[in-house]
Amino acid sequence: MAVLPIHLLGSPVLREQSATIDSADNNTRELVADLFETMDAAEGVGLAANQVGIARRVAVVGLDDDRFVLINPVVLESDGKDTAEEGCLSIPDIYADVTRCTSIVVEALDVDGKRQRIEADGLKARVIQHEIDHLDGLLFLDRLSPFKRRVLTKRWKKSGNDTPNHLLDVTPASKTSG
Ligand SMILES: [Zn+2]
Repeated sequence: MAVLPIHLLGSPVLREQSATIDSADNNTRELVADLFETMDAAEGVGLAANQVGIARRVAVVGLDDDRFVLINPVVLESDGKDTAEEGCLSIPDIYADVTRCTSIVVEALDVDGKRQRIEADGLKARVIQHEIDHLDGLLFLDRLSPFKRRVLTKRWKKSGNDTPNHLLDVTPASKTSG
């Protein structure tokens, strides 16, 4: 297991449509372990594989004791609209109100390749939608108005986090969300 560097806004892999995985194998197992370790080190609540440079449809979520993996997740049902503040481990120190579905039903494989159905609302539903967006090459900035997106992109460029290699070496001291 290893804590991996996190790809930041500007890294092309964050814009890739991640590839579906055939089945859970040892590579996937190792990737999932690394994702959990990296998410915990960064004190996030979710992390998608392309955030560590691997464009495969795998993400992990960790909300207190509710920790699970999403492999090839598909949203089956969604309901309601809810707006709340969001951040992203790939865009440190930038936050915005994002509107998403209040509740969702998702089907995904777990690390053993077993199909699981997850019903979620509130923060859990929000984090899952945020991670599935990552797998589709989307960031929360894309869900904002063009004006708000421009303002935050400008703020990002001035923030000092917009480094040429678009990589963040995670230390347990760094913080934020998903
Ligand atoms: Zn994110």
